[in-house]
Amino acid sequence: MINEFSFPTRIVFGVGALKEVPSHLARLGVKRPLLVTDAGVVATGLAGRLRAVLDAAHVPFATFDAVEPNPTGDTVERGLVAYRAAGCDGVIGLGGGSPLDAAKGVRLLATHPGPLAQYDDAKDGWRLVTNAVPPMIAIPTTAGTGSEVGRSFVVTLAETGRKTVVFAPALMPSVAVCDPELTYGLPPKLTAATGMDALTHNLEALCAKGFHPLADAMARKGLELCGRHLARAVKDGHDEEARAGMMIAAVTGATAFQKGLGASHALAHALTPVAGVHHGLANAIVLPHVMEFNLPAAGAALAEVAVALGEPGSDDRDRLARRAVERVRTLAREIGIPERLRDAGVKESQLPLLAEKAWEDASHQGNPRPCQPADLAALLRAAF
Ligand SMILES: [Zn+2]
Repeated sequence: MINEFSFPTRIVFGVGALKEVPSHLARLGVKRPLLVTDAGVVATGLAGRLRAVLDAAHVPFATFDAVEPNPTGDTVERGLVAYRAAGCDGVIGLGGGSPLDAAKGVRLLATHPGPLAQYDDAKDGWRLVTNAVPPMIAIPTTAGTGSEVGRSFVVTLAETGRKTVVFAPALMPSVAVCDPELTYGLPPKLTAATGMDALTHNLEALCAKGFHPLADAMARKGLELCGRHLARAVKDGHDEEARAGMMIAAVTGATAFQKGLGASHALAHALTPVAGVHHGLANAIVLPHVMEFNLPAAGAALAEVAVALGEPGSDDRDRLARRAVERVRTLAREIGIPERLRDAGVKESQLPLLAEKAWEDASHQGNPRPCQPADLAALLRAAF
C-alpha cells in the first residue's frame, strides 16, 4: 500500500518567544499586521504585552479584538473590514482556538472572494484555496487546541447554521510563536479542560485508523508530556516545566491528528453547540467511555497509551490496555473534571439530538472501531 504524509510548521518555542514576533514579521515582509484577538485576551493583559513588543520595534499595526467563542462567519467578515480599512498586509492571531481560527478566516478572505460557505471542507472547498494568502503568525495563549500548527479553521455560518470546517494546506500559519509564559495566568479549570483536549488529540491520533508513523511517534511523546505535566500545570500555573510541557503536548497533538481523530471528538463536536459544554471538557468526560468501546479493536495502541502515561511495561497487552482507561480516569478526577455529562449541564432530553449530530460529524470515521449511530447513542448514555 502506498501512503502519503508530511510534517511542516515552523515553530518558535520558549519562555520569552513573544519578543521574536517583530523579527518574524520582518522576515515575512509584513509591514502592517492586523492583530486578531478577543476580549478575554485583552482583559488578561496578554494583548497589551504583544502591543508593547510591537511598539518597541516600531511596527505599526491595527487591532480587531471582537472575536467571540466559537466565531461566526459574520465576525470573520468584520475582521476583514478592519484588515482592509487599516491597509494591512499580514495577520497575527493571539489567543485560544477561537481568535486563531478567526485570524485564519480573515487571512483567507483577504485574497479570496466570499462567501465563506463555498470553502466548506464538506464540499471539497479546499480546491478553491490558492497559496496566495497573506502571512500569519499564530500565538497561542492556551495549551490545547493546537490551532497554531493546524491547516483548518472552524466557523459557524448563518447559511448552514452549523460549525463549518475550512481546510487547506495554505492556511497553516507561516510561523507559530509558542511562549509558555502566556499560559501562566490560565485558571485551573481552563488549564484542565484545554489540557485534556491536547491529551485527547494525542490519544485519538495514536489509536486512529491509518498509517502515519511520524504522527504516532509525536502522539506517544505528547501523551508522555500530558502524563507528566497536566496535573502539575493545574495545581501550580507558574510551574514553568509543566506549562512548557503542556504547550509542546498541544503542538504534538494537533500535528498528530492529521492522521485522524475518533469518536470522542465526534461526540465533543456535538456537545459544544447543542449543550454548551466546553470542547476540552466534553472530550475529557467521554474519552474513557470511548477508550472502553475501543478495547476490542485498539488493544495494541491503548497498551502504548498506558506506557506513555507512565504505566510500567508488561507482556499482558490486554491488561495494559485496560490500565490506559484507568490512568485517564484517574488523571481526569485528579484535575477536577466532572465524571458525568449530567454534571456538565447536559440534559437527558438532549441525548437523541446529540447522537444525531455526533453521527453527522466526520471525526468518528477515524475511530479504530467502526461506530454506528446506536454506538454513539450508547456512548452518550454511558457518559451521561
Ligand atoms: Zn479537540
